[in-house]
Amino acid sequence: MTDSGVVLVTGGSRGIGAAAAIALASDGWDVGIGYRTRDDEAARVVEAVEKLGRRAIAVQADVVETEDIERLFDSVTTALGPIAALINNAGVVSPAGRVDQYDVARLDNVFRINAISAFLVAGAAVRRMSTQYGGSGGVIVNVSSRAAVLGSAGEYVDYAASKAAVDALTTGLANEVAKEGIRILGVRPGLIETDIHEPGRLDRLGTTPPLGRPGTPEEVAELITFLASDRSSYMTGTTIDVSGGR
Ligand code: NAP
Repeated sequence: MTDSGVVLVTGGSRGIGAAAAIALASDGWDVGIGYRTRDDEAARVVEAVEKLGRRAIAVQADVVETEDIERLFDSVTTALGPIAALINNAGVVSPAGRVDQYDVARLDNVFRINAISAFLVAGAAVRRMSTQYGGSGGVIVNVSSRAAVLGSAGEYVDYAASKAAVDALTTGLANEVAKEGIRILGVRPGLIETDIHEPGRLDRLGTTPPLGRPGTPEEVAELITFLASDRSSYMTGTTIDVSGGR
């Protein structure tokens, strides 16, 4: 086990973010958790991290609100110390539907939470990590989706497009800050067992990946933990699939 510093996980109360928070704690990180509404779930993750002997704090913050983002970073830094890694994970899917049925409210919601917030949260991290701002560097892991490549026809092409924006963020920002001590990486999960799916979706699609089953949040967390660590020290600008072969 290494003493790895402080990591901030947005959307850390449930699903992939919660599994990442716990896996990162096992790897020696102290963990700040951002969440939107589920105080009880966030408290459970804090407890799990503390059981592993690491420090943790949960902060309610909506990632679409600039003031909330600043408060999230400042609260975690005050409680735990300077943030060395960000897992830019908070996200939502849209209800299933075809492009010809989308309205502005739907598109605004999914792009705001998945794409615009990913940019705002990454920007807030760069202002604290970059050597140009007096920081000590760090790592940002953006959570994208295989949907960005597959397109999600008939389900949520808008979600897929919002995650394609996250992939472009990973590529572009990595080049922008490579010489400022910050590495930017991405993960593209496939079908993962979390509550994000509409009822019945996992049962319907669960055996479609070549590996014949959905993935677990812990399997995604394993990759996130590797990317956040020095074990990935010669990697930046790369997004890796963790999707059972599809
Ligand atoms: P999940 O179980 O539904 O958890 C979503 C998390 O994001 C929760 O912690 C939630 O907080 C938080 N969140 C949502 N909107 C937020 C906002 N506006 N501000 C702050 N926090 C917010 O989802 P998941 O499946 O773990 O997904 C995590 C990431 O993986 C997402 O970016 C998703 O697109 C991506 N992904 C998931 C899959 C999959 O199959 N599960 C596949 C590919 C990519 P509360 O608990 O407070 O609601």
